[in-house]
Amino acid sequence: MTAALVDPIAPGAAELAAAGGVCILDSSAKCELCGEWNDGPRAELRAWARQHARQAHDALRPSVLGLDLSLTRTGIAIETLIPDGSKGTAWPSLLTHCGEAGHQNATYDERGRRLVRQARAVMRNVDAAIRAGADIRLGVVEGPSYGQSSMPSYYDRAGLWWSIITALQARGIPFAVVTPDHRAKFICGVKPPMGKDRDRAKRLICDETRSRFKVNTGRGTDHGELVERMMKRLNGDQADALGLADMGVVQLGWATPWRKGRRHVENVALTTWPAVTL
Ligand SMILES: [Zn+2]
Repeated sequence: MTAALVDPIAPGAAELAAAGGVCILDSSAKCELCGEWNDGPRAELRAWARQHARQAHDALRPSVLGLDLSLTRTGIAIETLIPDGSKGTAWPSLLTHCGEAGHQNATYDERGRRLVRQARAVMRNVDAAIRAGADIRLGVVEGPSYGQSSMPSYYDRAGLWWSIITALQARGIPFAVVTPDHRAKFICGVKPPMGKDRDRAKRLICDETRSRFKVNTGRGTDHGELVERMMKRLNGDQADALGLADMGVVQLGWATPWRKGRRHVENVALTTWPAVTL
């Protein structure tokens, strides 16, 4: 066993996993922790297994994944519906990044290997979050920025992008693709500067994200403290990923600890969303 990559997301996840989880057989499913079982078609059994893990053991919590993909640094964010007596509120449960710098004159062989390392690193984080109890119902990924398509890095990023999309498909996670414009306007209200002014843009994105979560961070609660820690070490790629995840949260109609403004609703409405079962 390797050390856990992420903190627990649903409190009962480890106990249920240690017991053997909810096993789905040909036409029946059984919870190895409490012995409850069910039968029926496989799709129904999968839904039953999720509901059972969620309701009987608090071992799975509905979550949205946001990914700001790049080879140098991919931002990874998960927002999770935390029970609060009513329908729950979506709080960030994972905020991290991974990647490595490339170099000019890299061969195609080196570029290919870097791409595979990064795709694996991203999905390792996603899979660790799932094991920690994130029931990822929706992935939100930033789409291509065609204005940069003359750069070699654009070609490599496209390779990474499709690797991640197919990995999400393999896990049955429906995904939405958000344009860079709509992502930026959702987070900042304006299109941040591009090109040479990239550092200024990243600062603006971080400032706007910190300000979004300053509203009712629930000080004194675990989530408030966790979010405070996240905001202290926030970088631009994490902030972008968190913005993408929050677009999914708004689309699903989940309550947020921050106030939804017009720009949030408008930019979500401009995005095409997949069907999501909760
Ligand atoms: Zn059970």
